[in-house]
Amino acid sequence: MKVPFQNLYLQYTSIKAEIDAAIADCLNNSQFIGGDKVKLFEQDFAAYTGTQYCVTCGNGTDSIEIILSALGISAGDEVIVPAHSWISTSEAVSSVGAKPVFVDTRSDLYTIDTTKIADKITSRTKAIIPVHLYGLPAEMDEILAIAEKHNLHVVEDCAQAHGATYKGRKVGTFGVAASFSFYPGKNLGAYGDAGGIVTNDAGLAERCRQIANHGQIKKNVHVSEGRNSRLDTIQAAVLSVKLKHLSNWNERRRMAAKKYFELLHGADIVLPLAPDYSAHVYHLFVIQIENREMVKGALTEAGIETSIHYPTMLPFLAPYGFPETDFPACYSYQNSILTLPMFPEITTAEIEYVCDTLLRALKQ
Ligand SMILES: *Cc1c(COP(=O)(O)O)cnc(C)c1O
Repeated sequence: MKVPFQNLYLQYTSIKAEIDAAIADCLNNSQFIGGDKVKLFEQDFAAYTGTQYCVTCGNGTDSIEIILSALGISAGDEVIVPAHSWISTSEAVSSVGAKPVFVDTRSDLYTIDTTKIADKITSRTKAIIPVHLYGLPAEMDEILAIAEKHNLHVVEDCAQAHGATYKGRKVGTFGVAASFSFYPGKNLGAYGDAGGIVTNDAGLAERCRQIANHGQIKKNVHVSEGRNSRLDTIQAAVLSVKLKHLSNWNERRRMAAKKYFELLHGADIVLPLAPDYSAHVYHLFVIQIENREMVKGALTEAGIETSIHYPTMLPFLAPYGFPETDFPACYSYQNSILTLPMFPEITTAEIEYVCDTLLRALKQ
């Protein structure tokens, strides 16, 4: 049996008629950037997340950068980010000229260790970017309390957590603004690059919209210099179709996770933690395991695709170059994390095969 890491083709075929019609409609109208379909998706996505405004843009990395710019964060400022994330989180901070300040992450939740944030706050700190990594919300109560005490903006990076909830509330509603990526493999993915910002602050939404479209308030009226980061109409049409299926897909990911828990329970494997107060959306199903390379090799041999998110934690990457001793928790699990196949359409038989192969490899 072959088990792919994810299967976007299978997802497409499950909604082919709707997608094909939506794309054909765009071609027939021949509007390719902006327009009603983009507005409609923005309304729908704001409603889905429970926020008032959604501003779409070119990709998830841009969405973080645009929020930071709109908040006036620039050279001389510092922004707190978790040591464990995809590079976009820290890269966006550097791109606006500010300095990313890394904080160690928890080895059980993989999100920022809130007990280690205060130590990193200086007079230059302007914001915290919690990342809801792998689909599990960061500890927002603690983060919001620290932010309030030190007068910092909270900008949520929701790229891996569309639809996840923390204490009954959807991610994206906690900070001053939140960024989303609609990269094809994300829980809600377009058929190319795409991103979005949600916020309840009308002024901030307006500034984000200007920045993403050359600083224009209307055609040829530029109140500032911005950039070009807009959503293609075809991507908006695809996203509107897929948004209707997102809750169902997230539910199927949870069922798949449940099956993994059931079959891997009791083995010498660290399974993801899903505290009761959160609804995890399992963008990625990450375990910790000894002899990772051996296990990964055995899975590959058996036709099972796995991945590692991420092989090198952010502070240890070349552009940052911090010593491992500065981020002990995240360093301690860097070489044992392994991402198993996870997608809404994965079958019970496929999960059984993955677990079976995994447990057998562990016994070797
Ligand atoms: C995917 C991702 C991003 C960036 O999204 P792109 O659309 O690829 O630019 C940002 N943060 C995290 C945590 C991500 O996983």
